[in-house]
Amino acid sequence: MAAQTIPVDDFDLVIIGGTGDLAKRKILPGLFRRLCAGQMPETARIICAARSDFTQDEFKSFVREALEKFVKSKKKNKKQIEFFLERLSYIKLDALGDEGWEPLAKTLRKGVIHAFYFSVGPSLFAPLAERLLKHKITNDNSRIVVEKPFGRDLASAQALNAELARSFNEDQIFRIDHYLGKETVQNLMALRFANALFEPLWNSQHIDHVQITVAESIGVEGRGAYYDKSGAMRDMIQNHLMQLFCLTAMEPPATFDATSVRDEKLKVIKALDPILEVDIVRGQYRADGDSPSYQDESGNPDSTTESYIALKANLSNWRWVGTPFYLRTGKKLRNRASEIAVVFKDPPHSIFADSQDLKGNVLTIRLQPDEGINLSMTIKEPGPGGMRLTEVPLDMTFAEVLGDDELSIPDAYERLIMDVIRGDQTLFMRGDEVEAAWGWVDPIIKNWEEKQAKPAPYDAGGNGPDDSLMLMHKDGRRWREV
Ligand code: NAD
Repeated sequence: MAAQTIPVDDFDLVIIGGTGDLAKRKILPGLFRRLCAGQMPETARIICAARSDFTQDEFKSFVREALEKFVKSKKKNKKQIEFFLERLSYIKLDALGDEGWEPLAKTLRKGVIHAFYFSVGPSLFAPLAERLLKHKITNDNSRIVVEKPFGRDLASAQALNAELARSFNEDQIFRIDHYLGKETVQNLMALRFANALFEPLWNSQHIDHVQITVAESIGVEGRGAYYDKSGAMRDMIQNHLMQLFCLTAMEPPATFDATSVRDEKLKVIKALDPILEVDIVRGQYRADGDSPSYQDESGNPDSTTESYIALKANLSNWRWVGTPFYLRTGKKLRNRASEIAVVFKDPPHSIFADSQDLKGNVLTIRLQPDEGINLSMTIKEPGPGGMRLTEVPLDMTFAEVLGDDELSIPDAYERLIMDVIRGDQTLFMRGDEVEAAWGWVDPIIKNWEEKQAKPAPYDAGGNGPDDSLMLMHKDGRRWREV
């Protein structure tokens, strides 16, 4: 089934940090795919700006190489790559100085949408916004895209929001959380709000608990120095897992638009109970044979930064009181896998004498690997010999249904960039939402800092610290194998 693409209006997209890792791996390959898919207008232009000294030809060679490496589609060909490169130009620009801003202003066309992607370190977000304003490069219809991390606590997020607000209105600021651009995450909303089947059951009467897992099999590797100042709470829970949690728990918005959806997500965060110390487990991977420890990889032998978190979150509202949400994320775990598992209550009574142990259904929204949706069902085992029951999956892997060529299932970044051009903020975080999320995690982090708490060690390739198993066991539950 080929994805239908609706072309967006003509645009000039400026990628500041256009020579960086994110631009190379995600943004530029994503734009190339959108051009191939007919969604990016052929007249649109991409202007990459960064500190490096590149001639136009050198920059194009750099992008050509990136496309060869990071675009896997069987449909890609040299002619398309050259056509894409013609839409591209490079400007040497200093985010903290005056170099490059005038040439940038002159390059932009009148009468088309202007978007500025801040694909640089977070310390440059505010200076960039300020310079765009100072050099009169933006107008009321310009958009900025701000990468993560958006602050490192509530105070810094508030300060950044205030600084951006000096140059831009809220409807011009697109705070990116690429998890929201994942097809499966949007499918969670389709599943909930385009089918009448689940919504009547989507509450504490029928759902026992929810597990949200984002597990990585690799360690911090080259990002050690950055990660050590952040940790799993700031790097993953406050943004990605919190967003998945909000979309799972929110009330149906009146319409699928930016204001309604984000209002509902914000209400979820506001209904969160403060977290108890006994309901949170922090871990850090230790050395294991040839596999280095977190402390080795981060270059900080005394580091107490967590590479693993498991926590239990409770919501005090009518829909969810009594149904906990368990969130966990970590590095160097057994598998790379991300999912939201909605675990329904066990049937209240078994009419089958031999099958005392009837299990609740589990609806799993799988983000990776193999994006898809799975519902575990109990059926009768085939054959004679009485009513023996067994669990089977009703499985829908998107690649099987929609095709597995990259052009069929767009990557999160490319979907989100097209939304920026369309001016649709539904899948971006609003300023108050980010602040509310920091408001919830801040006291937890502060408590660790005050106590100089040390994370529990865990083995690489395992399931995290033993305490995380206890977090579930004490509630009579257990983590799913992912
Ligand atoms: P990077 O270090 O690879 O690239 C940074 C870019 O910024 C380079 O092009 C560099 O030339 C440019 N730059 C640095 N200082 C500059 C200045 N003073 N003026 C102009 N340009 C300057 O970083 P990255 O990995 O591409 O990450 C960019 C942003 O995206 C960061 O905020 C990061 O947290 C976020 N992010 C990255 C990834 C990823 O996979 N790389 C994932 C999620 C979020």
